[in-house]
Amino acid sequence: MDFDLTPEQEQIRKLAKDFADREIAPGARERDREQRFPAEILAKMAPLGFLGGPVPEQYGGMGIDYISHALITEEVGRADSSVRTTLSVQISLVELTILKFGTPKQKQAWLPRLCRGEVIGCFGLTEPASGTDAAALQTTAIKDGDDWIINGRKMWISNGGVSQLALIFARTDAKAPKTKGITAFLLSREHQPYGSPPIHGKLGLRSSDTSELVFEDVRVPDSMRLGELGQGFAIAMAALDSGRYSVAAGAVGVAQACLDASVSYATQRQTFGKPIAAHQLVQEMLADMTVETEAARLLVWRAGAVKNKGLPSTRETSIAKLYAAEAAQRCADMAIQIHGGYGFSDEFPVERYWRDARVNRLYEGTTQIQKLIIGRAITGIDAVAG
Ligand SMILES: Cc1cc2nc3c(=O)[nH]c(=O)nc-3n(C[C@H](O)[C@H](O)[C@H](O)COP(=O)(O)OP(=O)(O)OC[C@H]3O[C@@H](n4cnc5c(N)ncnc54)[C@H](O)[C@@H]3O)c2cc1C
Repeated sequence: MDFDLTPEQEQIRKLAKDFADREIAPGARERDREQRFPAEILAKMAPLGFLGGPVPEQYGGMGIDYISHALITEEVGRADSSVRTTLSVQISLVELTILKFGTPKQKQAWLPRLCRGEVIGCFGLTEPASGTDAAALQTTAIKDGDDWIINGRKMWISNGGVSQLALIFARTDAKAPKTKGITAFLLSREHQPYGSPPIHGKLGLRSSDTSELVFEDVRVPDSMRLGELGQGFAIAMAALDSGRYSVAAGAVGVAQACLDASVSYATQRQTFGKPIAAHQLVQEMLADMTVETEAARLLVWRAGAVKNKGLPSTRETSIAKLYAAEAAQRCADMAIQIHGGYGFSDEFPVERYWRDARVNRLYEGTTQIQKLIIGRAITGIDAVAG
């Protein structure tokens, strides 16, 4: 077992860290206040290859391994979870899913443009009446000659309003069992226009774009179908497996940001004539945060090592996602505690970390669902559907 990063991985980590410190972190508070999508940051990330991650170079990606992918995602997440969410959707839910299930023509048509940031992608699975129970989705695709006519509505879609490409899931067979009658489609906004009413008033991720997607008789040629007919649910689950890894790495970044901010504050803020870091109960929180952050990072790297071998990684990814998401929230809570009253204001970033960390426990499978996936892996009994 080797816990050392390779020289290439160290280099990528440094590149990502420098970029996050210089370009992402400084404007995070203003973007959060203004609820402004970080388009200018994506434009700067693209030339560095950060929007292509593990996508092979022949399709415009960096062709990096999964540990390197986690290192970039962690650094971006350390600076701003809203930017990290955009990145996770773009790479892990959209690009890697097209890479895995797309035809050569679909890969050539979309991957280079996604990797260059010319096209922003979104992933539409959740609907107003179905999130965890994704197979209950009600969006329909009805065959009409060589085309499909799509009707329905998606909810909580990251990047929805800024997307030019939507990977969506629709029911193509009402009579088939729930999970078997779903098919995935790619919608090019230019040719298959869809609506995207924005969702405002979010607790966190305020500069991430979140919208509904509305399909009213959207006509899609069969050539835009991703994967086989009825394979949609399996495609969605594979995509989430990949997305969860990215969320986990981003959550490690939040935990690290909380620790960094807390060490800095605790060594400067004085009470009773000494820095608060000199009080044992404050040091206890710093120690707990350190353990939580490092344990979460190692779980992410372990999942990455399994992915690098090309082996099934659902169990390891769910463990990493569950632990990192919960750890980030606990670290953010302790960070506010260490900052005292100042932690309750956006003068310091820790209140944003706390708000932004919350969603990691919800999206790409809630904490409860990660537990049921792990439970299924160790017992062989599927309790998800009750
Ligand atoms: C900011 C944000 C961005 C998002 N981005 C996207 C996106 O880009 N694309 C997309 O498709 N979706 C996205 N989502 C949706 C997200 O994935 C869902 O909110 C999530 O899957 C939970 O679904 P739900 O909200 O319908 O909750 P529900 O499924 O209604 O669950 C409610 C509660 O019941 C629990 N529960 C449900 N079923 C079970 C069970 N079998 N056993 C135990 N507990 C259970 C859940 O854990 C949860 O605590 C996003 C959500 C948010 C908030």
